[in-house]
Amino acid sequence: METVKEKTGRLLALVSLIVIVGLLVFFMWNTTHKEKAEDSTTVSIYAMDTYMTITLYGEHAEEAAEAAKKEIARLDALLSTGSAESEVSRLNREGGGLVSEDVGKLIKEALVVHEKTYGAFDISVYPVMKAWGFAGGDYRVPSDDELDKLLEKVDASLIGYSEETKEISLPGGMEIDFGGIAKGYTGDLLIELVKDYGIEHALFNLGGNVQALGGKTSNSDWKVAVAKPGEENGYLGYMDLNNKTMITSGSYERFFEADGEIYHHIIDPKTGKPADNDLLSVTIVTESGTLADALSTSLFVMGADDAITFWKEHYGEFDMILYTKDGNLFVTDGISNKFTSDIKITTLDKTY
Ligand code: AMP
Ligand code: MG
Repeated sequence: METVKEKTGRLLALVSLIVIVGLLVFFMWNTTHKEKAEDSTTVSIYAMDTYMTITLYGEHAEEAAEAAKKEIARLDALLSTGSAESEVSRLNREGGGLVSEDVGKLIKEALVVHEKTYGAFDISVYPVMKAWGFAGGDYRVPSDDELDKLLEKVDASLIGYSEETKEISLPGGMEIDFGGIAKGYTGDLLIELVKDYGIEHALFNLGGNVQALGGKTSNSDWKVAVAKPGEENGYLGYMDLNNKTMITSGSYERFFEADGEIYHHIIDPKTGKPADNDLLSVTIVTESGTLADALSTSLFVMGADDAITFWKEHYGEFDMILYTKDGNLFVTDGISNKFTSDIKITTLDKTY
């Protein structure tokens, strides 16, 4: 017969065992979850005249972030008009010449979009950008005569580019600038780069241009705010993003004021002046960052009516959000179930 003392002893041993096993399980669970949380990394950098934040998830997130930083610096050095040593500056100085693989790809895409948008997108608008002071920060309002003279140099259809010889010619003092397309292109390259490090979930925010690789680690969509022009920290709504790019162009991004007038940085190549229409911002959602970036700039130049016509002509290639000066918010049917807003939305479909 077991004594009461022996029974209590056995019970105590059992309870201790349960407690020990429980604690062990808890510590193991805790460590694995901690490791998971530590498997992400976020870095912020200033490049291409803007703040960039990169969040990566995965075992090699830190290495991938380092590689991403190097890649941004490499592209910045090629494309920066602000640096006399950049490839773009050399081409502008010498009226053309041999191009690197990256500049070749950018030229090709820029010329396609130039044609597609009937000239709204034009990388040869750079001399005009300079005249307004957007290149160096010494802002001024050029006279109509000055602009007319400069516009003689603006016409991307005159750019000669041979994919075979990798040579570009910029006739008649023409100068180019990839400011309207470079960040989207950079984002596309970064996505490919981090995939090589086994990363499947990442979010790149390159100065408000957001590019998502996959969804969150739970595979749910990233929730990304769309900025409200004119309101710091204000937003038009939220977009659920998964494996896509969302790029916004707006007059609110860079501008100066002179004699009570606001002059912004997106130039209508037809007039040489900041695009002046009913739009405050254009957001493009699609897979390719390069295309999204080029289109956001182009459609901002077009104004709402032409942008909607263009979208219908290219149905299925991209989605968009248009925000107008009189407070209208247009969202195309491909993303209307992914975008939430407190503002009344007009959904655009092919019949609009
Ligand atoms: P984004 O913020 O992408 O709309 O690009 C604006 C930048 O693109 C400007 O700062 C200029 O460098 C350049 N840009 C301005 N107007 C045009 C245009 N019509 N076509 C192509 N690039 C432009
Ligand atoms: Mg753009």
